[in-house]
Amino acid sequence: MIAKLEIDLAAVKANVAALRAMCAPAGFAAVLKGNAYGHGLVEVARAIEDDVDWICVYHAEEALVLREARIAGRILVLGPVEWQRLADLHEAGVSVTLWDTGSYRSFLAGVARSAKRPFGVHVKIESGVARYGFEPAAAPAALGTLLADADLAVEGVFTHLAAAEELESAFTIAQRDRFLGAIESSASLLAQRGTVRHAAASAAAMLYPTLRLDLVRCGIAVYGLWPSPQTRDAVGNPALLAPALRWTSTLVAVRNVPANTPVGYGCAFTTAKPSRIGVVPIGYAEGVPRAASGRGHVLIEGNNVPIVGRICMNATLVDVTGVPSARAGSLVTLIGSDGDATITADDWARWCDTINYEIVTRLPAGVPRSYVPPSPTKALLRAVP
Ligand SMILES: *Cc1c(COP(=O)(O)O)cnc(C)c1O
Repeated sequence: MIAKLEIDLAAVKANVAALRAMCAPAGFAAVLKGNAYGHGLVEVARAIEDDVDWICVYHAEEALVLREARIAGRILVLGPVEWQRLADLHEAGVSVTLWDTGSYRSFLAGVARSAKRPFGVHVKIESGVARYGFEPAAAPAALGTLLADADLAVEGVFTHLAAAEELESAFTIAQRDRFLGAIESSASLLAQRGTVRHAAASAAAMLYPTLRLDLVRCGIAVYGLWPSPQTRDAVGNPALLAPALRWTSTLVAVRNVPANTPVGYGCAFTTAKPSRIGVVPIGYAEGVPRAASGRGHVLIEGNNVPIVGRICMNATLVDVTGVPSARAGSLVTLIGSDGDATITADDWARWCDTINYEIVTRLPAGVPRSYVPPSPTKALLRAVP
């Protein structure tokens, strides 16, 4: 075995159930962008489709892949869509995000008219991320126009928060007020049409009850990871979420090396004493972040062992001097537990000066994934395009 990613779909389902219960009566959207944060788009969707009200993705392609896999529930594309893809999305019954009343909308209306069926849209309002969305000042008029357009079915109106990982963030409260202010003049029409109002991603869903509104959009928490250490501390129940992903490999060689021997590219590490250096057969091509060179650890035989030297494209060197039983064939745990020791995506994030989101999302789609319980497709190897 070169490397293995095991995804516990029962843990994913339990996380969805826990978050749903916490946020009820708000509805629940699971965010499956970025290959379900590295966990596998189709397999995660199959596991949770009956547990959620919406699935959110970022790209048109992701939505169409889900439909090909016979995921039948409501799907929203959060990101920009090339106009050439709109007809396919409409035919597949996928909803899109609208943040202007210009060209994009006239394409939507054209597609809707020729199909004789309105296009499902969620209207995005910018409230503090400075990314996508109608400006709050322009939003009431725009929303009025869109709601009056028979070619559109305005199923949702939403915003995205910039700093909800902080408890009692004044910025977050101001974003909420800007958003609710922008949709106020359409309130009765929105209610009448059953249009859902949504704002909260994982952090706000857990920390800000007044931002749950009609629907929460949870990504990172679905996979059992916390949006930030502050969020975990503020919720005060670390057992609420169960990490779903386990990442392992196998030592393929162990070499005895004298003192004062340079190890790896650039001679970035030199042994201080006679050492045993183990070779893990995966590197940054397989998702081991190079930024963890000389900082990260892995688990071997229940021990924490340090990564030494620079992480290579297809290999990582570890110092197993302190683990006499380590040999070719020993299990290497990169994320998960071995005995009493555990390494998490948050540990990797700390070593690499990034966030757990990036660690799991960048695990390449081409690394074999196995699913517990196994998904019916047994699609263990997904080709890299
Ligand atoms: C990614 C994303 C989410 C989910 O964020 P998490 O912090 O992972 O829960 C929600 N809404 C939008 C618009 C997003 O882009």
